Amino acid sequence: MEIYLDNGATTKVDGFVVKAMKPFFENNYGNASSLHFKGVEAKNELENARQKIARTFNCDANEIFFTSCATEANNLAIQGIAQSLKEKGNHIITSKIEHPSVLNVCQKLEKKGFKVTYLNVDKFGLIDLKELEKAITEKTILVSIIMANNEIGTIQPIEKIAEVCKKKNIVFHCDAVQGIGKIKIDLKKTKIDLMSCSAHKIHGPKGIGFLFERNSINLEPLFFGGHQENSLRPGTENVAFCVGLATAIELAYKEMLVNNKKVKNLRDYMIKGLEKIPGCYINGDLTERLVNNVNARFDFIEGESLLLRLSAKGICVSTGSACSSQSLEPSHVLKAIGLSHVQAHGSIRFSLSKYSTKKEIDFVLKELPKIITDLRKTSVLGNHNIEKYNSMKVDHHEH
Ligand code: PLP
Repeated sequence: MEIYLDNGATTKVDGFVVKAMKPFFENNYGNASSLHFKGVEAKNELENARQKIARTFNCDANEIFFTSCATEANNLAIQGIAQSLKEKGNHIITSKIEHPSVLNVCQKLEKKGFKVTYLNVDKFGLIDLKELEKAITEKTILVSIIMANNEIGTIQPIEKIAEVCKKKNIVFHCDAVQGIGKIKIDLKKTKIDLMSCSAHKIHGPKGIGFLFERNSINLEPLFFGGHQENSLRPGTENVAFCVGLATAIELAYKEMLVNNKKVKNLRDYMIKGLEKIPGCYINGDLTERLVNNVNARFDFIEGESLLLRLSAKGICVSTGSACSSQSLEPSHVLKAIGLSHVQAHGSIRFSLSKYSTKKEIDFVLKELPKIITDLRKTSVLGNHNIEKYNSMKVDHHEH
């Protein structure tokens, strides 16, 4: 049995998306910049894909720029603004719970003389709008806030953040990777200036994303080359993947209401089951939360050991995010919501998808308590008193 509950890291490509991409590997393989009929064909399909995305998010097609991934889109947004507005100021505001593709760019910019404010979050992972307003100075050129956190699933009040930035005339970038396909986004209504997206979190292929750049914004490119993507992102376009991205986005929004309902029910069912395990707590917010995210911590458990034991049973989950799981540092997100190192290390993310089933969740809920009891017997983290856990009543939402 194979149970994939790591959809926050990446997802299975939908068969419909594979089908939409196939002709571009086999027949319609032209270069979208070529002048012959095969080039024109490719160019038309590329522009169709762009228009589909623009329709979904209610923006203009010329505001969508294809990139190789969301990491690139985040880099382009932040470094592009830092470069184009450096005469205006050198201050950037972000939060402590951003994805590494935002945090590490900000840290790099600090070394180049930029000042960065990393906003705190509360114990549920929410930023404070008043703290944001207070942090803004005359030198602030950019606010970059994640739409929904990839580890704990907390959804930020993006419209309100956008309003604050608009009022102060500051560019607002939003890393929307985890929110895409689960949260409705209307770019005419919500004053996001720059928005990053990736296909592989929504049943599209890996290695393709886009940056929305509002027409009023002017970014400096990161790369220089040909005139593709209006010279903002030169390089021969991957038409097959752009079509895959657009198809995945269209599908995700077409199915959103049904999938959100189904996945949320399963998620809540899973949380109820987890809460029956002594010494298990749910990290993050229970309402402002992505429908597919469960982040739980288990007292006296080392997350990696639990992950490996689950993997041996055919269950895929993650500790922290895929990007930081190679390091032994505890998750910066879990630390920011106030967890100790030990608590952060005892946390696991289960992320569901439209393909998840009740049978799979039941299997996990059956296996998990056995593994946990077993791991606690040999835990070096302090408490070996299993009897205590069996009779213990806990508040599962406290930190
Ligand atoms: N931002 C968030 C919130 C993510 O979850 C991820 C992927 O893990 C990224 C950015 C980076 O996306 P990509 O893998 O397309 O570079």
